Amino acid sequence: MVKLVENYRSTSQILDLANASIINNNQREEKLLTRPKEIPKNGPKPIWFISESKESMDQIPQLIHNMVEKDNRVFGDIAIICRSWGHIKNLASFLQKSAIPVDIHIEKFFNVPIVKNVLAWAHLVVVDEKSESALFRILKEKMGYKWTSEFYRDMNKSSIDEKFNQLENLSTQFPDIAWVLETREKILKSYKMKQSPDEIVWNILTQLKSTSEIENMRKSYRYKQRLNLANMAKLMIIAERFNIIEDNPSLKSWLHYMNILQRNMNIEAAQPKEYNNNAAVQMLTVHQSKGSEFPVAIIPFLRSGSFPIRLNKSKSLDELPITWKNWSTEEPFSVEDFHLQEERRIFHVACTRAKDKLYLFGPTKAQSIFTKELDALEPKIMEVSTMKTSNESIEHPELNPDKQKLLVELSHEVAANHYDNAREILSKMKNLNDSPIKENTNQIDSKYLLKLSASSINDYQSCPYKYRLKYIDKVPERKSRATMEFGIIIHNVLDEFHSDDDQSLKKILDLLDKHWRKDAFEYLLREEEFKKQAIELVTEYFQYIKKHRPTVVARERMFTFTIDELQVVISGKIDRIDQEDDSLSVIDYKTSKNKEKAKGNLQLALYTEALKRDAVEDIKGNPGATILHFLRHYDDPLESHTFTSDDLSKELDKVAKVAEGIRKNEFPTKPGDFNCQYCDYREFLCPAWEEE
Ligand code: SF4
Repeated sequence: MVKLVENYRSTSQILDLANASIINNNQREEKLLTRPKEIPKNGPKPIWFISESKESMDQIPQLIHNMVEKDNRVFGDIAIICRSWGHIKNLASFLQKSAIPVDIHIEKFFNVPIVKNVLAWAHLVVVDEKSESALFRILKEKMGYKWTSEFYRDMNKSSIDEKFNQLENLSTQFPDIAWVLETREKILKSYKMKQSPDEIVWNILTQLKSTSEIENMRKSYRYKQRLNLANMAKLMIIAERFNIIEDNPSLKSWLHYMNILQRNMNIEAAQPKEYNNNAAVQMLTVHQSKGSEFPVAIIPFLRSGSFPIRLNKSKSLDELPITWKNWSTEEPFSVEDFHLQEERRIFHVACTRAKDKLYLFGPTKAQSIFTKELDALEPKIMEVSTMKTSNESIEHPELNPDKQKLLVELSHEVAANHYDNAREILSKMKNLNDSPIKENTNQIDSKYLLKLSASSINDYQSCPYKYRLKYIDKVPERKSRATMEFGIIIHNVLDEFHSDDDQSLKKILDLLDKHWRKDAFEYLLREEEFKKQAIELVTEYFQYIKKHRPTVVARERMFTFTIDELQVVISGKIDRIDQEDDSLSVIDYKTSKNKEKAKGNLQLALYTEALKRDAVEDIKGNPGATILHFLRHYDDPLESHTFTSDDLSKELDKVAKVAEGIRKNEFPTKPGDFNCQYCDYREFLCPAWEEE
């Protein structure tokens, strides 16, 4: 049972091989891939290198060096797709030894240092089964491993309270112990105040401001710090979401939830943003490779027991009645058959990641059934070869372990376009007394497609460092949340208000009740104050609309357009579009207290540009006036401006400047009372407030 599906990615030769393999899954409904006739694409036949696993470890680096040196490939063109993690780790060390940068993401979320530190402090204040190991970690960080293990040996069999009493005695002698005790007291205070888990996480991070981990995040922006930042953000988001899903969220219940996650789910660490993968060979498991494509794919370790992987029969699966195992067929289908067909499907996925060239590596002894089946076919659909290690092959340097580590760092810095960091690492590598490393001279295009919005551009203009934390490191903000939520609620109310013919006062107040969310505000008093303001604000809006009834043509409408010359994609959402005579006017609601001019407002200029380019969903027409509607300014709520071509090109210059700064990785702090007053990052992440 086969279906024909068009595939635009791979050459016909690669598809022929993949199809010839999957057709053996005769008990399942599988897809055969075919190139569209009108877009033919041919290339060399895939090659099976007959190679034992040990030989492959030497031959694959050689093949990669050949491709880079002779075929003008960049490392990032090449993917190595393995069936298991173990193979990736082994092979990666051989590649690194041969001066080949590899991109391999094996970090686990719960192993990232900042995640471990925050959780350790949380366990310490809650006092649970992990408190002992948490205290050990915290003391080890401050006092060193030797001191801590001696302390634990001396305090063998004592309770955690007794340990704290002893630490109290030692605190006059050791300032670092005094710091641990003080910090614990401060965090304990917010725990006793029954703050929500996300608030306590924030508090812990603030208390840890002076620790090396957080200090390094302020002072340096290498891969290690970027990994810490990305996972700190992930931890904060998990804590925030827990608040939403749990009825009575407490630190204790959150830690219980985190324990379950840690035990049962092997969560991957969040990866720092990287802009190009040209810098390193990509190493992935087949499962990770799904949805990706690479000019060249190498599938190594095609050996019986490795790929297809050996079936570990679970007892419970064996004990299933045979009729239960009839998954999708009428004939009884053995567990072994099912496993093999599933493995063949995985092999098919791996092969079809290749666009131009496909290389298989595996032996003839203990041969994989997949290469056996393919090799038996006539006419031949793959070349069979053994790899020569002749003098002709290009010599490549062997790297010592220090250089290998630096090489990994180097590839991360280049991939993230942090060339200053990369240069520093390169000069460190050159200074190591070893054979010189060749710089990859292939040009790396740093003009990657940048996605921006009016608010991200504004954020960059007001403080580039804040932009980096918010949009690149994705550290969530905190204090501004209540005002942000207030704005979202009001926008939702006005959106629905204009969708209905009933535009009475009762209607708008009902809508406010419908969209109001008590949990968006940190405490009751704040919520009541905001609600009072909201009632007044929508009532005034109703009065205004009664006198100036608009012809609304669209609400909350998305747009996206690309400024080709800048390689920048701009996207956003327009609050309201009205028909005004023969033009369209754009209205943006503002809940802020301060008023600003519409002229020179980048957001409104981008809305005009979107209308000009017919980039707003289902809307066509001439852009006219743009209006800022300040909802708190009841007497004189509007600021308006009609953008001329000159105005627009001035605004696009601003976009160009911001894009250039981001691409150059220019993220200086821009401290100032107005900027920093409400900035969450001031508390522990901003180097401009170091001395606080
Ligand atoms: S505290 Fe000020 S300088 Fe620091 S990130 Fe925030 S806005 Fe920028």
